[in-house]
Amino acid sequence: MDPQPSKTAAAAASKAATAGRAIPVTVIPGDGVGPEIVRSAMRIIEAAGVPIAWEEAEAGAAVFRRGDSSGVPRETRESIERTRVVLKGPLETPVGFGEKSANVTLRKLFETYANVRPARELPGVPTRYSGEGIDMIIVRENIEDLYAGIEHLQAPDVAQGLKIITRKGSEKVIRYAFELARREGRSKVTCATKANIMKLTEGLFKRVFEEMAPEYPEIAAEHLIIDNVAHQLAKNPAQFDIIVTTNLNGDIISDLASGLVGGLGFASSGNYGDDIAIFEAVHGSAPKYAGKEVINPTALILSSVLMLRYLGQGEAAATIEDAVLFTLEEGRAVTQDLARQVGGDIEHAASTTGFTDRVIANLGKHPSGGGARMRLPEEKVERRPAWSYGPERYAAVQRTLVGVDVMVESDLPVEALGDDLAQLAGDRFALAMVESRGTKVYPPIGLATDHVRWYRGRFVARDGVTLSEEDLVALLGRIAARHRWTEILRLQAFDGELAFTKAQGE
Ligand code: NAD
Repeated sequence: MDPQPSKTAAAAASKAATAGRAIPVTVIPGDGVGPEIVRSAMRIIEAAGVPIAWEEAEAGAAVFRRGDSSGVPRETRESIERTRVVLKGPLETPVGFGEKSANVTLRKLFETYANVRPARELPGVPTRYSGEGIDMIIVRENIEDLYAGIEHLQAPDVAQGLKIITRKGSEKVIRYAFELARREGRSKVTCATKANIMKLTEGLFKRVFEEMAPEYPEIAAEHLIIDNVAHQLAKNPAQFDIIVTTNLNGDIISDLASGLVGGLGFASSGNYGDDIAIFEAVHGSAPKYAGKEVINPTALILSSVLMLRYLGQGEAAATIEDAVLFTLEEGRAVTQDLARQVGGDIEHAASTTGFTDRVIANLGKHPSGGGARMRLPEEKVERRPAWSYGPERYAAVQRTLVGVDVMVESDLPVEALGDDLAQLAGDRFALAMVESRGTKVYPPIGLATDHVRWYRGRFVARDGVTLSEEDLVALLGRIAARHRWTEILRLQAFDGELAFTKAQGE
């Protein structure tokens, strides 16, 4: 069930503030430059007079070092469950094999499915696009895709990662993007996928987008292939309004978008779930600058502006945003990253604290204009069921077993492997093909394909055969007796439609 609006963290925060109580927020200082920029944002929020009861919590490098391989200790999870709002510094990603990114863990644990990254032209931050009026928001799916992190070495030198896209996950983030467009009075949502190549995964995201778009007739909906979006972002970025996309695409193009408007020092983000949100800068822990007081805190300050809007503190959010824009526009406190971009005096650039002091001094001042404003209205997401594909309809889909793919590691020449698998297919299955990295290599199609000692044999039901589970097990037994199989995948038809792709050349 979706949460009742009255129970959301945002509503609770508004209530707390109206009643004069402090709003509870979990704050994670993070690694590297994290504590410096988090301190900066907290000082500004306090100076703006927003009563927040910060619950400081730990995550990241120190937690990994203590042997907690999640990087997010129980106390931190409990704090977030209580407050349901987080302001966090960047967390270092461990390089070890078994440890996962604590950032991704946090986003996933709390199902913050929409990663929202505004990119807009800022006053006082000249770029090669200045004056074009860039003002876009990238909404990135935040849970699924290759970020599911399901990876296996199928052979000592063959790695495989699974790309998971679901209708439910897609609907949630696409709904979020359209509702955001509606709240902000924006006119266009662009869906960016690689559906032309990944027809079932990226294709599902595109299909869901096209199904949902008519619910928002006042908003123009378009689909563009992600590589074209990258090209268009470099050529004419101001054409974009809201872009909604899958996780990996979104990761890449949102960093690209921040590069168009001044770089990582200015890129803010919010990770939104149904009743929980995590606000952070887009950039990482920049370890070489840790403790040096030279990093630009704007990204995290603007992320805290998103947080205040989420908490119903629209007025304070606007005051802080105005003060940041005024500070950038007046150019009296210029951090190193910006000084470098504008060919300014790096020696005398503002420190993190110096910039923060300037923003505090400028609270109550208004920029003269120029540059788009991030006038996100307060967070009132319309909560509607995010899965139209209801359980009844889902259960009613008829599933037919039509074959099986078996992955095999083998040193045999492909013809010998193919001949053997064809014989092992028996009288219930036929070997449809053997492929190598997605290209059919058996029966030979006459072209040279480099082999990597890892193949997929596709076995399909012979004419007139209705396959059973016993057939699958028996086939696998025959193959296992002679070959090193690494994975099996059912080949199914859903309501008569094949639920798998063909190999190149099949
Ligand atoms: P990074 O973003 O930390 O830094 C790259 C470079 O960008 C810096 O060296 C600096 O030159 C510049 N930069 C970044 N933020 C800046 C700022 N606020 N002001 C001025 N310049 C800034 O990227 P990285 O070095 O690839 O990653 C360092 C660590 O951070 C890694 O462990 C990585 O996994 C992690 N990381 C965490 C997050 C997160 O917590 N959300 C995001 C990205 C990377």
